[in-house]
Amino acid sequence: MTIGLLKEPEGELRVALLPESVKTFIDLKVNVKVEKQAGETAFSKDENYQAVGAEICERGEILQADLVLSIHLPSQEEIDQLKENQVLVCQFQPLSNKELVDRLLKLRVTAFSMDNVPRTTRAQSMDVLSSMATVAGYQAVLTAANQSPRFFPMFMTAAGSIIPSKVLVLGAGVAGLQAIATARRLGAVVEAFDVRAAAEEEVKSLGAKFVKVEGAKDEVSAGGYAVEQSQDYKEKQQALIQEHAKKANIIICTAQIPGRKAPLLITKETVESMAPGSVIVDLAASSGGNCELTEDNKICEKHGVKIIGNSNLPSSMPMDASKMYGKNMVNFLKLIIGPEGQLNLNWEDDIVANTCVTHQGQVMSSRVKSILYPTETIN
Ligand code: NAD
Repeated sequence: MTIGLLKEPEGELRVALLPESVKTFIDLKVNVKVEKQAGETAFSKDENYQAVGAEICERGEILQADLVLSIHLPSQEEIDQLKENQVLVCQFQPLSNKELVDRLLKLRVTAFSMDNVPRTTRAQSMDVLSSMATVAGYQAVLTAANQSPRFFPMFMTAAGSIIPSKVLVLGAGVAGLQAIATARRLGAVVEAFDVRAAAEEEVKSLGAKFVKVEGAKDEVSAGGYAVEQSQDYKEKQQALIQEHAKKANIIICTAQIPGRKAPLLITKETVESMAPGSVIVDLAASSGGNCELTEDNKICEKHGVKIIGNSNLPSSMPMDASKMYGKNMVNFLKLIIGPEGQLNLNWEDDIVANTCVTHQGQVMSSRVKSILYPTETIN
């Protein structure tokens, strides 16, 4: 079997496999072809890939490999050229991309979306969402610290005392918890808010205060994810967040609901009530943002508050982010590569079945099937 590693599109600095991860596949008797300069922006040169046994090729050749691997989806034209039973492994948010899933079904491509890996203990080592959320949470706080006109820690100096910055983290999932830990390490006073009751314990264990709104809907069937809340809850939540936002110097927004628009937590009025010089970093920018005034991929200033909309912070740490992504890929691909380096799709394995979106014209992931095609029979 041949794995083809694509160079990511312009603006993305990560690569799905660093040479150290490629070596694992070479050791498993798999041929690896790497697109010219694929690792350049993550500080891995073509020679580094060649040194571990990979072949450097043009993009056209990579796209003909048995298994095509990347972080972002190849272009529409490139997808249309994929052949039946060719395997595509990348991240394409199938739940918000039905048109693409329809196309993959028609092409009878075997497509795995890494954002579909189940959030189970066994799948933790393959969970790219968690790895990248860790990078994003960390980078969000460093970005905020860089943009803030204030210190994070408390200082007692001959020039007087400096009080520590107050940081409010909205959403205490993987990114939020990493943001709390990073802000605490920098010496800030941190508060955090989440709709999931389980988050309270985790927030407190990191030395932050948990802001609690009573009456949240917390569904067991959502597999640990947040669900849409009632109107009454949203109003109570809005009032409490506004109260805490007014006192915060930094707000890190990470709240998301899979397959839906991000919840709106910071209204225009809340931004107006914040002190000038405050900073908001919105990691939910690409799914609408947690802040009403966020502009995706932009830094804007409204009422003296800097609002940074960035959903792709992992790209700003390409070396370690690629290292983590590659390690996740190795752990995942080992599930679908047999002892002789051949493709081995075991549909009895829940990780393989649920990460796979389409195979031979069928939707494989039960979650994707139930949400995108609740009543249809797919041929
Ligand atoms: P996510 O990116 O989907 O969302 C981020 C956070 O925003 C979540 O904690 C969510 O509860 C919160 N949120 C959503 N709506 C909100 C609202 N209106 N107000 C405030 N907060 C809101 O989350 P994630 O980081 O991907 O984690 C989701 C779940 O998966 C968590 O329960 C996490 O512990 C779990 N998880 C499990 C594993 C594993 O077992 N392998 C790995 C990673 C995450």
